[in-house]
Amino acid sequence: MTISNRLTFIISAIIGVLLIAFALSVYFAYANNREDEYFNQIRLQAETKVSLLLEARVEAATLQLIYQNSRNALNQEEVAIYNNEFDLLYHDEVDNDIVKETPEMLSTIQDNAEIRFKQGMYQIVGFSHIHNGQQYIVTAAAYDIYGYAKLRNLLYILVLAYLLSMVIVFFSARFISRQALQPITGVVDRVEAITANNLNLRLTEGNRKDEIATLAITFNKMLDRLEQSFDGQKQFVSNIAHEIRTPLAAIMAELELTLNKERNIATYRNAIENVLDDAQKLSKLSSNMLDLAKASYDASEIKLKPIRVDELLMAAKEQFLRGNDACQVHLDFKSEIEDEKYLMTLGNEYLLTTAFKNLMENSCKFSDNQTSYIVIDVTPTALLLYFNDEGIGINEADKDLIFTPFFRGDNQAYSKGAGIGLSLTIKIIELHKGALTLEPKAKGSSFLIRLKNMVQA
Ligand code: ADP
Repeated sequence: MTISNRLTFIISAIIGVLLIAFALSVYFAYANNREDEYFNQIRLQAETKVSLLLEARVEAATLQLIYQNSRNALNQEEVAIYNNEFDLLYHDEVDNDIVKETPEMLSTIQDNAEIRFKQGMYQIVGFSHIHNGQQYIVTAAAYDIYGYAKLRNLLYILVLAYLLSMVIVFFSARFISRQALQPITGVVDRVEAITANNLNLRLTEGNRKDEIATLAITFNKMLDRLEQSFDGQKQFVSNIAHEIRTPLAAIMAELELTLNKERNIATYRNAIENVLDDAQKLSKLSSNMLDLAKASYDASEIKLKPIRVDELLMAAKEQFLRGNDACQVHLDFKSEIEDEKYLMTLGNEYLLTTAFKNLMENSCKFSDNQTSYIVIDVTPTALLLYFNDEGIGINEADKDLIFTPFFRGDNQAYSKGAGIGLSLTIKIIELHKGALTLEPKAKGSSFLIRLKNMVQA
């Protein structure tokens, strides 16, 4: 069921129940009132009749005649009068006795209590009347034909008014809920129009205050993020294509040129070396891409375990030097560290080794002495790893861009690369809830990795 239908039914049901309660209270209040008034009226009329009979001394036969003649037209009440001994002195109705007076009933009335009760449609009042020191017991019964007719009329009016009101309430509720939800329909239509090809479309944010506007604003923010990451992905894919195409084109050109005619062994050797160089570039690029993909995972997907960072740095150094024997790596502690807890972090060995090797490689390839100076320092909460070199340094204008994927600085001519290393490294460090920053340094470059240690854990 749609929200608008549900709202319509809920509003109608609430108002429907309230209207029923209202109608019932009007009906019963009126019914009670009619009954009370009619009892009072019966008693007044009965007292008049008793006065006529006992004080004005009107003949009983005359009163009975009046009763007989006006009974149907005026719905006359039927009065009976008894003396102290419960002997019937007067009765309006000669043939038909409505109230069956019992001795108990008469003695209750005698004790001066007025009784009021109903018998079928008839209302009956019994009371005692004193005349010339003599007590008389009077009962009077009548049927409120007009009162009941009015009550029935009231019931018809209430039922009709209720049904009419409910029709009006139902259509008004439907109109109101549709009006209220109209903006959502607008949002849905607009959202349906948004596809991967037009992620630049946005929802109208209306007055920017109500709930729908908040929904639209939140949705637009999500679209901003999606569009950004979509653009990033597109850029990334085209960069990869470009990076792969360049060495592939070089390999093909090299091979075609060599095959053009018969060459001597030295030329073949040279060509093979060039092709191998490009193939290595491709292989490095693809393993870097794989690492980048791994590091882009959700942090919860990556297995972390307690690691002693100085030992991991030693292992990374060994691995790095195996493929880069021209480079040197110096590993030092800033001060003596007594508790090994300060050197422990919760991390992923493979990813952290990749990050450390990247920084060693950059220090090595961007400096004449091909040396990376690593300094380990600790604070009460963090592990600080400085990767310093005395190389050519980084151009001021490039400093903000070096962590962007595929970005290569002004100094790129100094060494080969694809511009992935630093972006991969910063991703890995951020996955470990750490930070990678470029620190100011007079000569060369200094990168600082901050990792949480396990002192607090
Ligand atoms: P790559 O080294 O393959 O170019 P990186 O992402 O590792 O890619 O580095 C991006 C850029 O940052 C490099 O092209 C270079 O301009 C600059 N850079 C990184 N490390 C250093 C360093 N130690 N010394 C000088 N420049 C550096």
